[in-house]
Amino acid sequence: MGLHHLLAVVAALSVAAVSHATTPVLVIHGGAGVIKRDMNAAREKAVRAALAQALRNGYAQLKAGKPALDAITAALTVLEDDSNFNAGKGSVFTHDGRNELDAAVMDGSTLRAGAVAGVHRVKNPILLARAVMERSQHVMLIGDGAEEFAREVGVTLVDPSYFRTEQRWQQLQKALREDSQDKPHADGETARHFGTVGAVALDARGQLAAGTSTGGMMDKRWGRVGDSSIIGAGTYANADCAVSGTGWGEFYIRTVAAHAICMRVSLMHVPLERAAAEVINQEIPAMGGNGGAIALDARGHIAMPFNTEGMYRGWISSDGVPHVAIYDAEPDVGVGAQDGPGG
Ligand code: ASP
Repeated sequence: MGLHHLLAVVAALSVAAVSHATTPVLVIHGGAGVIKRDMNAAREKAVRAALAQALRNGYAQLKAGKPALDAITAALTVLEDDSNFNAGKGSVFTHDGRNELDAAVMDGSTLRAGAVAGVHRVKNPILLARAVMERSQHVMLIGDGAEEFAREVGVTLVDPSYFRTEQRWQQLQKALREDSQDKPHADGETARHFGTVGAVALDARGQLAAGTSTGGMMDKRWGRVGDSSIIGAGTYANADCAVSGTGWGEFYIRTVAAHAICMRVSLMHVPLERAAAEVINQEIPAMGGNGGAIALDARGHIAMPFNTEGMYRGWISSDGVPHVAIYDAEPDVGVGAQDGPGG
């Protein structure tokens, strides 16, 4: 084969490789616990700005050719550091007034996963979950053991008072008053503030990842672990599908919600949107639970079902423009999302 011929073959191969490159997509949520009458213009503006910033930071990773996991951690640390969300700073309180945080990540291409639960000194639990995956032989570490591991691998620790915000404290006081009067929570279980943050990403190599971080449910017993940090329940990714959930965690654990969505996609070839809607809007409510989820497949299809008054959410793809929504039927992320990236 002459040199020219060889070069032509190499050029053809690289064009083929480029044309197979996937358009990256990042989808995030900031929880399904939105209660319309608790919202005001300033809060909405701050939430939308934080979601947009998280999308931009995460997408910068994907655009630079970095793996989906880098986009997940870049986006979620923004939301963990923002006290408007129930994760990291601004997490809800347990019944006895502590903050106990859970988080998990999963790499869809290798099925590797890492999780932490019941930590109260880790500034960004999503980074510790990733360190558990990449730097330990385990999938999940809890409490003091997780924090000792954080110290060893250099993940930032803070004083537990870092997580406290006055707003969350007042929410707990209200819940405790309602508990003591045996009154139902004013907004049903949504008042337990599902403000978990989550992300799913598809990188340029076509690989998926998922991550979720939370303060859990307000007024929970100390020691309670929710779905966010349980692989398959609130967080799951494989080669075909990635999911992060938000809602009443006990139901997500019992339905193994994130895994149930991905198995419909992977094994039964159910379209992503239908798979996600069946689990989130049929199976979970039929058992008495509620909440939402974000899901992404390997072709870039997005689903964002929820059955509460709103779910903080957003997505970003090739145009680099963050799309953000809070309530139902917002044009940016309604039907358009399905027609959007890769759709
Ligand atoms: N799913 C979380 C939990 O049960 C709560 C949330 O979504 O905010 O811990």
